[in-house]
Amino acid sequence: KPAAVTKILKRIESDKVKFIRLQFTDIQGQPKNVSIPAIQAEKALTEGIWFDGSSIEGFARVEESDMILKPDVATYAVLPWRQAEAKVARFICDIQTYGNKPFDGDPRYTLHKAIAEAAKMGFTFNTGPELEFFLFRMFNGLPTTEFEDHGDYFDLAPTDSAEDVRRDVVLALSDMGFEIEASHHEVADSQHEIDFKYGDALTTADRVITFKFATKSIALQYGLHASFMAKPIAGIAGSGMHTHGSLSKNGKNAFYDPNAELQLSDTAMYYIGGILKHARAITRLANPTINSYKRLVPGYEAPCYISWSAANRTALVRVPAARGNSTRAEFRSPDPMCNPYLTFAAMLAAGLDGIKNKIMPPEMTNSNIYHMDEKTRKKNKIEMLPGSLMESNAALVKDDVLCKILGEHVVSNLTRIAEMETESFNLAVHPWELDRYLATY
Ligand code: GLN
Ligand code: MG
Ligand code: MG
Ligand code: MG
Repeated sequence: KPAAVTKILKRIESDKVKFIRLQFTDIQGQPKNVSIPAIQAEKALTEGIWFDGSSIEGFARVEESDMILKPDVATYAVLPWRQAEAKVARFICDIQTYGNKPFDGDPRYTLHKAIAEAAKMGFTFNTGPELEFFLFRMFNGLPTTEFEDHGDYFDLAPTDSAEDVRRDVVLALSDMGFEIEASHHEVADSQHEIDFKYGDALTTADRVITFKFATKSIALQYGLHASFMAKPIAGIAGSGMHTHGSLSKNGKNAFYDPNAELQLSDTAMYYIGGILKHARAITRLANPTINSYKRLVPGYEAPCYISWSAANRTALVRVPAARGNSTRAEFRSPDPMCNPYLTFAAMLAAGLDGIKNKIMPPEMTNSNIYHMDEKTRKKNKIEMLPGSLMESNAALVKDDVLCKILGEHVVSNLTRIAEMETESFNLAVHPWELDRYLATY
């Protein structure tokens, strides 16, 4: 038995944990788990636990569906909102298939691959995602789009349970090892944001999943539904998952160069160049649903054009003012429906491609692009992000760098899902059509 396993088994005992959840995510970023009694922990940690992968979205064909969950001991955490006698802990798992081979459809494996490529170049990728979400009322056990509060950006007391939910989420996540930096009311009614400290991309991707799962569980205790849908209501702000990214080398921020223009190193410039070059393809990962594209429209602080800037919040990539160890680039298109493993892997692969091929970004755009006419945008070579899931999927399929890191299994499943979703959407008769046509025709 490896020492790390012995140590964690002792922890499970001293924490008086009764159940262990072995957690992973499907290709769409949905958390899945199987619960085992604590007595099975040793077996799970040494041999792994077999399961049937054929029923998981984007996983395996029925002919070769036996898979093993391999808990990552570093991810052990007690679930603080599952209290009392029967304590529950979880591990996030890697997935292997026959012969202990990593499984190509495991999104965590995709991120491992991108991280390994960065490591070959001496880089560690750090990410800091900012998740926004709505708290909606429930009716008969189902979520509605009714607001719980009418607060505004940074408002103090939304005068109801929303504040308590935010406080409980912050406390629970802190118990689970998150360093929470801030939590605040967002622009829209009932919209909130909680920010945690950046970390290496794998840890933060795991944390995004934990964050959503914890927030939903705690909101439910207040009879509320926490929604991470990108644009639940038309005409008001959607929810983003802006992701701050930086590379470090030998423990030092590789984006900072005190002597360079803007104090941004060549590495930082090439990273931004790579992100912008591959932006259309990354969109398939960062904005993975039909609904995601309703957020990427002008007027709501969400990006729709491919550009970068040191200040303006309509740009796709913004470089915040902080320098030194905090030098970073904020990528503003991702929404919280995304699979964080695939999104971070795609961002990293794009950034590394920029560095390898010395891709300089075009000139910065410091004015509000929402107000720029088409001619000026054309002159400045400002392209648009894809406007639909099929469009971003087409961009992904054409992008060799991203296809290589994701692998054929992931790309073909993403394509199948995009086609299936689009067909189902096209066949539906939407409320808009009834509003528009029913009475008139
Ligand atoms: N809600 C906005 C978005 O969709 C972001 C608002 C903000 O954090 N400034 O990205
Ligand atoms: Mg923020
Ligand atoms: Mg925000
Ligand atoms: Mg932000």
